[in-house]
Amino acid sequence: MKIFNYTKQYLSDLLHLVYPEQCLCCESELPSGGQYLCMICKNELHVTNFEHYGNASALDQLFWGRIKVSSVFSLLYYRENNQSRKILHQLKYSNRPDLAQYMGVLIGDRIKSSEKFKAIDLLIPVPLHEKKRYIRGYNQSEEIAKGIKQQTGIEFSFQFLSRQTHTESQTKKSKFDRWKNVQEVFSVSDVLPENVRHIALVDDVITTGSTLEAAIRMIREKHEVEVSILSIAYAG
Ligand SMILES: [Zn+2]
Repeated sequence: MKIFNYTKQYLSDLLHLVYPEQCLCCESELPSGGQYLCMICKNELHVTNFEHYGNASALDQLFWGRIKVSSVFSLLYYRENNQSRKILHQLKYSNRPDLAQYMGVLIGDRIKSSEKFKAIDLLIPVPLHEKKRYIRGYNQSEEIAKGIKQQTGIEFSFQFLSRQTHTESQTKKSKFDRWKNVQEVFSVSDVLPENVRHIALVDDVITTGSTLEAAIRMIREKHEVEVSILSIAYAG
């Protein structure tokens, strides 16, 4: 068994030599078994620390006057010149479900000891339309949810919320049109597991919050639940 382990380690070291894994941000070579980011870049992640906020964060306030949300969390601040941009770019265009799960692990690590997120019973990834999912190969929000579950033990459901129609390109639309546009595309299951009182929608990046707002509206038409939001980055 020991010899087998040595051989495995040897092979892993050898592979690492041939295909050195690079840090996502600075492209420096990672130590064997290192994950995605070098120590320097990991330490420089622009984390929000929202889990420690006693008062409402700017992100909580984004939904004020629009829809009732219990707590909103983003791990990072999204900025054009920081690591979060590279991370999200990789998730969108480079087929990296492993990276999405890893970001979920980092989110789970942060929220598991926070009072604000203790009551969450179920994670609901924001769905992608089937066509988009097919092109990308996976839904990054589902992978993030898997990572969060790893750290917190909170179950997820991929069936509760789904998309109905493909959204047109939204870049040229006003905020209201965008809201109308996404409002119609969610479909909510009639069934919610019996003991679920507080769900958390899981998403990659929060910008205007319109998609999340539309999803919550549709969920509340059918179910009386508390809703929180968990995400990788906040672009506010
Ligand atoms: Zn680095």
